[in-house]
Amino acid sequence: MSDINSDLGLFNELVEVLLNEEKKHPVADRIEANALYDSIDLSLNDGAMVDQEFKQVLKDVLISTPKTATKLFFNQLFGGRQSKAVLGDLLAVMLNNSMYTYKVAGPQVGIEQEIIRQSCELIGYGSQSNGTFPTGGSMSNYMALVMARDAKDPLCKTEGISKPLVVYTSKESHYSNAKNVSFAGIGRNNIRYIQADSRGQMIPSKLEEQIIEDLSNGFIPTYVNATAGTTVLGAFDPIDEIADITEKYKVWLHVDGAYCGSVIFSDEYKHLVNGISRSDSFSYNAHKMIGTPMTCSVILVKDKKHLHDSFSNDADYLYQTDGDDFNLGKTSFQCGRRNDALKFWTLWKSVGTNGLQGIVDQQFNLADVAREYVRNNSDYTLYSFDDSISICFNYKNIDPTALCTALYEHQITVVGFGSFNEDTFIRLVTINATNTKQDILNFFKVLEDFVEKNPVLSTTMVESNS
Ligand SMILES: *Cc1c(COP(=O)(O)O)cnc(C)c1O
Repeated sequence: MSDINSDLGLFNELVEVLLNEEKKHPVADRIEANALYDSIDLSLNDGAMVDQEFKQVLKDVLISTPKTATKLFFNQLFGGRQSKAVLGDLLAVMLNNSMYTYKVAGPQVGIEQEIIRQSCELIGYGSQSNGTFPTGGSMSNYMALVMARDAKDPLCKTEGISKPLVVYTSKESHYSNAKNVSFAGIGRNNIRYIQADSRGQMIPSKLEEQIIEDLSNGFIPTYVNATAGTTVLGAFDPIDEIADITEKYKVWLHVDGAYCGSVIFSDEYKHLVNGISRSDSFSYNAHKMIGTPMTCSVILVKDKKHLHDSFSNDADYLYQTDGDDFNLGKTSFQCGRRNDALKFWTLWKSVGTNGLQGIVDQQFNLADVAREYVRNNSDYTLYSFDDSISICFNYKNIDPTALCTALYEHQITVVGFGSFNEDTFIRLVTINATNTKQDILNFFKVLEDFVEKNPVLSTTMVESNS
């Protein structure tokens, strides 16, 4: 029997189980990958499953699924739970609109457009700007690249690529750039990786040198992807200096702020993206710094004509009423599109722009706590820099990959490792704004206690550069 009221009752019961479980076991009981299918009944069968068994299987799944909202999850560039955003996402599921037309999305169109309008205003894009909600940061980078390509090579849309296009990004940028040049028909050989400095920021003079060399070889510089918050170090490329170059050579500038672009909400940290108003497009993931549920990615375009040029297509069966400004499918990649705006809007509406600033600032405060702790403790070596919410370190020169894996396998804490130039290190990300200073200090304590109880780890040393 299926009825929404009883299933919502079950939902509440299961959420209770989950929240208790998060308290008791902040790191989920881990199932070895090769034992997965023997440990939980994931099979789909011809017959129906009776209610009690069904409930039990759901509980089993909940209990052993990795917990990303707890105070011991630091593995990726998201974490925690902003409850007003969760509320919005649950409502979006109940409403189940598709964002392509006003006819089926109604006020949800206005909700999405209000977020886009306010975001454009924050970064100083003018009245011609607009944007959309792609599936994530990788797709945002892809959409920006396609717009840049079509602007340089308009024939491309009907004939395929007709010019020798090249694109630029830093060595530290997100790996989606490499995939995207291949998807866009430009080809992986035509992406130029510009050297980053010792802090992981793109070196503008190297960018200009490369552009000049490409021009002299008959290539057409098409697109620069700058990063606001690189994936490993959380570094910010110098946008103003890069914009001097992209304006001079008439190259599209996209700023990939998937990780840390949300600094636009903070009076204290928005200087990290100085020059952003000079970019042609900008994207940020609200599911990273803002803490909405996955996924919530926004791309803003200074001149909306590019969104229409690259992504609109007539479809009489779809666009039957209300005009282009309200039919958002005219500027999106997908046809049917999930409502990712509502969860962001419920959070923003409830805490205000000042509240979003508080969420962003808290992450930098927690990062300061972590960096201070590492700096003031001679057992640690710091590899990352100020103005970043990625804190990269090693402890007692223990091999970071071995330590991270052991912490995960023993369900102590979930944290990842990364590399920059010759160094590999643990990367602590203070992106969960619901954490407190105490939670960050607790992370170091559980790590230190674990190492003390497992002296064998100290035999896995790394070479130290410092
Ligand atoms: C996370 C990230 C992306 C990818 O975003 P997804 O939403 O995971 O596709 C792109 N660029 C940067 C800098 C990122 O940190």
